[in-house]
Amino acid sequence: MPIANQMIPWVESFSMVKKMFEEGARLKAEYGDDKVFDFSLGNPDVLAPAEFKQVLRKLVERESTGHGYTPNSGFPAVRQAVADYLSDEYGLGITPELIIMTAGAAGALTGTLKALINPGEEILVPEPYFLGYQHYAFNTNAIIKTAATDDRFHLDLKAIRAGISEKTRVMLINSPNNPTGAIYSADELAGLGALLEEAGKQYGRRIYLISDEPYRKIAYGVTVPSVFAAYAHTIVVNSYSKSLSLAGERIGYLVIHPKAEDAHQIIAAAEVANTMLYVNAPSLFQQAVAQVQGVSVDISVYRRRRDMLCRILAEAGYEFQIPEGAFYLFPKSPIPDDVAFVGILADELILAVPGTAFGAPGHFRLSFAVPESTISGSLAGFRQGLERSIADQRGGQ
Ligand code: PLP
Repeated sequence: MPIANQMIPWVESFSMVKKMFEEGARLKAEYGDDKVFDFSLGNPDVLAPAEFKQVLRKLVERESTGHGYTPNSGFPAVRQAVADYLSDEYGLGITPELIIMTAGAAGALTGTLKALINPGEEILVPEPYFLGYQHYAFNTNAIIKTAATDDRFHLDLKAIRAGISEKTRVMLINSPNNPTGAIYSADELAGLGALLEEAGKQYGRRIYLISDEPYRKIAYGVTVPSVFAAYAHTIVVNSYSKSLSLAGERIGYLVIHPKAEDAHQIIAAAEVANTMLYVNAPSLFQQAVAQVQGVSVDISVYRRRRDMLCRILAEAGYEFQIPEGAFYLFPKSPIPDDVAFVGILADELILAVPGTAFGAPGHFRLSFAVPESTISGSLAGFRQGLERSIADQRGGQ
């Protein structure tokens, strides 16, 4: 084999994902784009705010807009702008030294893990969880351990406590959640903070909390509580991928609580990690996002789509939790084999992702970052998929 042994399983699983997308493309080519209902991708399609485009235009036209390397942790003025905004948002004195500009939340997560984890140490994650976490863990020689969530996909503190071992270095949470849409309450987070404090004492080492919040602005009438209020030893990672629909531009940040143990050493290590990974966050987009702190895409578009898709799924007979945030639904598969069910949906020209991909068999994920016409045209396919899967199952018994 010309490639590293450790890459072989990743290439194999990636080729399965590629196959799924190729199959989607084949169906679209055969039946036409408007006949295929593609709910498989979490790629934001709501337009970036007009304000942001204006800022970008002005920046590009400026003679002095630099395209050179930036400081590894980001431009000081950009970190200051982010710090000012976050101080307000979290009600905490956050200074620019506590912030590093990164290439999206993915860059922030990889950098934070690189800063914190020794090879073989564990990251504990509530399940289901975003597939990318396996990649970030691989990049940092960490091991992912999972803790079950409750029947609403909220934190199960008992399961988390049982999942902590002497090797746990990081607890990683994501709220609003991909794939479930759950938003953890202030009480849940406070319970988690107390638990991490107590478990850290038991094992005689600090357990850090990483809160992955790229969907923070996408919440439907629910306030996303501050995780900083629950536990001081926390690093929040965030990006503008979803809040400004800039996923392809790779811009985000990490911020550490001012009272986190060894905060400055962790930031210094994460800055070095930045240089090792991609040198610095994109210069132009650092400058642009600094000027639109607090601005976000029109969330009412996602809310309308969520409500439409919930109506359709309920009418077709599916069981699901109404998402409190993000732009995903995670219904129960009508048959236990979610991979087979997603295949049946594909026969009905509906594309979804099996829950198995998120460590949660028996479910499937639908992204509603799609045009309304995709949602409105999907009822018959969802209904037939459900009826067929149950009929097939009966036939097989
Ligand atoms: N975390 C979660 C839960 C995500 O869903 C994603 C992307 O979909 C990321 C992190 C990575 O985000 P970014 O594009 O900002 O790197």
